[in-house]
Amino acid sequence: MGTIYLRISQQIHYKLLFLTVCVLLCLSSYASDLPLSLSKLVAHENIEQLALTSAELQWIKAHPKLRAAVKTGWIPIEFKLENQKHKGVSVDYLKRISQLTGLEFTVIDYHDNISPNDAELITGIRGQIPPIGFKLLEIPYLETANAIYVASKTSFYQSEIKLNQLSNKTLAVYKSGPLAQKLKALLPHARIKLVDLADEAFDDLNSGAVDAYIGNELVLDYHKYFHKIKVIKKAGKTPITSKVFMGVKDTDVLLNSILNKATLHIGTNPEEVLETYQRTSTDTFNKLLIGTISFFALILLIQLIKLYKSSKLQEKNASETIWFQANHDFLTKLPNRYLIKNKLNEALQRTAESQHTIGVMILDLDNFKDVNDTSGHAIGDEVLIEAAERIKSVITPPHIVSRFGGDEFLILILSNPDEMWLNALCASLVHQMKEPFRVQQKSFVISMSIGASLSPNHSTNADELIMFADEAMYQAKRTGKNKFVLFDENLHTLLTERTHLANELRYAIQRDQLFLHYQPIFNLKTMQCEKIEALLRWKHPELGFISPEIFIKLAEGNGCITDLGNWLFQQTLLDYPLLSRRYGNIQICMNISPIQFTQAEPIHQFISNLKTLGISGNNFCFEITEGLLLEPSNQTLQNLREINTHGIKLAIDDFGTGYSSLAYLNKFRIDYVKIDKSFISNITQNLNDQVLCRSIIYMGKQLSMKLIAEGVETIEQEMLLKEMECNYSQGYLRAKPMAIEDL
Ligand code: C2E
Ligand code: CA
Ligand code: CA
Repeated sequence: MGTIYLRISQQIHYKLLFLTVCVLLCLSSYASDLPLSLSKLVAHENIEQLALTSAELQWIKAHPKLRAAVKTGWIPIEFKLENQKHKGVSVDYLKRISQLTGLEFTVIDYHDNISPNDAELITGIRGQIPPIGFKLLEIPYLETANAIYVASKTSFYQSEIKLNQLSNKTLAVYKSGPLAQKLKALLPHARIKLVDLADEAFDDLNSGAVDAYIGNELVLDYHKYFHKIKVIKKAGKTPITSKVFMGVKDTDVLLNSILNKATLHIGTNPEEVLETYQRTSTDTFNKLLIGTISFFALILLIQLIKLYKSSKLQEKNASETIWFQANHDFLTKLPNRYLIKNKLNEALQRTAESQHTIGVMILDLDNFKDVNDTSGHAIGDEVLIEAAERIKSVITPPHIVSRFGGDEFLILILSNPDEMWLNALCASLVHQMKEPFRVQQKSFVISMSIGASLSPNHSTNADELIMFADEAMYQAKRTGKNKFVLFDENLHTLLTERTHLANELRYAIQRDQLFLHYQPIFNLKTMQCEKIEALLRWKHPELGFISPEIFIKLAEGNGCITDLGNWLFQQTLLDYPLLSRRYGNIQICMNISPIQFTQAEPIHQFISNLKTLGISGNNFCFEITEGLLLEPSNQTLQNLREINTHGIKLAIDDFGTGYSSLAYLNKFRIDYVKIDKSFISNITQNLNDQVLCRSIIYMGKQLSMKLIAEGVETIEQEMLLKEMECNYSQGYLRAKPMAIEDL
């Protein structure tokens, strides 16, 4: 009897075990492969959990199918695979909502002009402002930490870093979204470099151009994991988090309340959704630990089966994603910089064995920044896609086109090219760009500058070849744009000199190599010197005087422009007493780089020094270029307000060379407009320039701005300007820039 009972009970036990495993297996596979719509049965039970009203239930019955717009390139939050399937946190979250409500979502691609006619729901909204026609749900479905990443090789950071340790550092941050603003507020002394792509920041970290990169932990850990990036490590977390919301058609009250109930029920960062996408080593460790210690045999078995199944699924997702990510740039669908660098290295290995030549070409769109600045990133993106198409129509296999950075493309030429062949190829590329780009009823004329280097002629090292092609491309830009330059020995010398110079510039202040020249500016009515421009000079002990046209650009490139600017602030304050004794109520004009406007501290400090010394703000004028005012950041606006409040004057420098809209400038309080010297040099011979000058003066006066002509070299020019009622004259005719002792 005892044995029979045992046998029966064992059988029951085994059957039970078998049955449970089967049910759980079915359930777990069901849950992980759930379509966006669910069977009515599951939905019905879940609906009760949400306590939906009968009106809400009616609504779901009447509208079971909805469209959800989801972004395609924000891995792993929302992205699209090669097979056109949408994936990521947002899509999985929608599946959870489906499960709870019975609503069925058709996922469509998000675009910048999306309206409730295209989709009832949008996901992936960063910050607090939804597109027009949509309303944010009450809670974010995702809230991620922003973490600090540094170069692995750096010895500076040994233990975990806190944000405040970065207060004097150069930090890379992604250009759009509110993170950069928040960082500037927390770390006013840090230098912020805005980047287009995570890879760009990783390269900057690796080369030492920036000290740390701050970005979305979920996104960057995932990126780092899949690209097996070893040169970068996570070094700490910041207190800044990024929230991601869904937005719902704002006119549909019932839909809003249904989705609010569903998201409140699921909550922010549901673990079952996030675990597929989190890529930190500690997670795996925790999972294993919990699995080992918490359950007895049966549960452990089930857990293990589930874990096995979900890891299989993750592996499948991961391999699809790895394949896609490792090869493509999401915007243009071109190979990305990882793939192209690999291809280049492979090609270099092959050429080492053969007598083949290969070429590296860098293409950079000229004035692309203007498209982004004046028409926004959405239009900029479309221009980039179209540019990629045009390039691909000229460059066909076996050659490879890749997107290398913001508006930069790298082409690998594999067919033994020589200079003549490259010239012909680039002529076709330049020709392809001739036709204006038409995007959303707007038309843009965009050209490209191309540089190339050859292997083995110039180098057999991939990084060097890219650097040389880049230098050649800059030479194409410097010498008129819209053309092709092949790297050569002269450029090599130039490049080494420039790199050397940029390094030397870092020490120019402490080695006492900087000083100022002053150039008087005369009132054309009274011929009195009322203003004086401070111009920075750098005398290097071996290289002699280096033109500010060269070293200011270098300083803007390597981040030391803020230090140079601060030195200028101090020096003009020291010189002020002497200048005011010499000229009376003089106004000192200083050139301020846009980068100096990205921080609060330097300008704030200058103003506080003015107050301490009892000098009025009216005795100083900041010369800025109009680019600064086109899409000013909040920090820039705040600095402009502070400048205005303290009576410091503002002048627009080099007017006529850029965007040149006085009406636009009228949105800001501008006191002076300086007409660029390129117009003044021609006014006596060129009627066009004369008419232009006249109209700038006329319009400026209408808008209560005073006009300064710069580069006045002849008495004829000065007479004409006087007749046009220009207010001030600056130029070699009256006074060259000179040392303070010579004034
Ligand atoms: P800018 O602000 O347009 O300065 C005027 C430039 O025109 C100066 O060149 C000046 O020497 C030159 N100039 C003055 N009168 C005449 C003339 O009659 N004929 C001609 N052909 N040129 C004249 P400089 O000193 O070489 O400065 C070049 C540029 O470097 C400046 O252009 C400014 O953009 C930048 N720069 C100079 N000092 C500073 C500085 O302290 N900070 C910043 N951010 N930029 C500076
Ligand atoms: Ca100036
Ligand atoms: Ca100027």
